[in-house]
Amino acid sequence: MRWISTRKTATKRRVPGAMRPRGVRWTGLSDWVPIGLVCFCCLCPAHAQQSQTQTGTQAAATPPATTSSQPQPASQPTAVPTNIPAATQARPTELRFLVLLDPAHGGADTGAMLNPTTPEKTYTLALAEQLRAALNAHGIRTILTRTSDIALDNDTRATTANHSHASACISLHATSTGNGVHLFTSSLPVMTEADPRRAFLPWQTAQAAYETSSLRLESDMDAAMTQLHIPVLIARTSILPLDSMACPAVDIEVAPVDATTPLSDRGYQQKVVAALEAALVAWRGDWRQHP
Ligand SMILES: [Zn+2]
Repeated sequence: MRWISTRKTATKRRVPGAMRPRGVRWTGLSDWVPIGLVCFCCLCPAHAQQSQTQTGTQAAATPPATTSSQPQPASQPTAVPTNIPAATQARPTELRFLVLLDPAHGGADTGAMLNPTTPEKTYTLALAEQLRAALNAHGIRTILTRTSDIALDNDTRATTANHSHASACISLHATSTGNGVHLFTSSLPVMTEADPRRAFLPWQTAQAAYETSSLRLESDMDAAMTQLHIPVLIARTSILPLDSMACPAVDIEVAPVDATTPLSDRGYQQKVVAALEAALVAWRGDWRQHP
């Protein structure tokens, strides 16, 4: 049975100035303070409408326009399974490290208008391509869910992620509101390693089995952003396609630093890419030690 979670978003901001070593996660509630309502592009009308149209419907037959650092055969429309069998979850024995980059929006789904001339879909694709180049320079293989201005539904994005056996799945968004980089992990109830339900993961809640590793990945990103003095907001939310991804997954939303450093600031863009690059290089080390 397929369903869409309706859990409310829980948003918290790390206490300004609080520092911690990479790989160590805050555990005390005293380390967080709640903030007011934040306008996330993921929750904007266009995005919300896209998510709502997934409810109770079969995925559109648009094949994912994936590319990787190695040639891939042409994709065919893929039926979305209701469960992800154990065989699909199994990690390849050679411990290959691969990053899936998912530039949000595309085609008629423009996402938010970041300024009068730049839709979010254009920004996210450019960011994904810059990050892909940076990761490839480290010998890290990448797959993009789209490499052009095409529409992809959430199931298609998740299908690409789950077929890739990615070591990290990164969905990229942008917004003209808020400050710095917003990092989201799934708010689904965590499924432990010992949970027998891991044998078959419900499609819509597959991320529950990967949340522990997703939080570790987010921690690496938080540390890398902090290192480069980029404001970070951390939150947990229920959102597609993140909840359907069977991989360590973080949804990233890039916002301006402040009024003087907009999204279009080239230096800021480069810092964000550099931080994500550093985080994913660090994650490669963590992932190999704790696959
Ligand atoms: Zn968005």
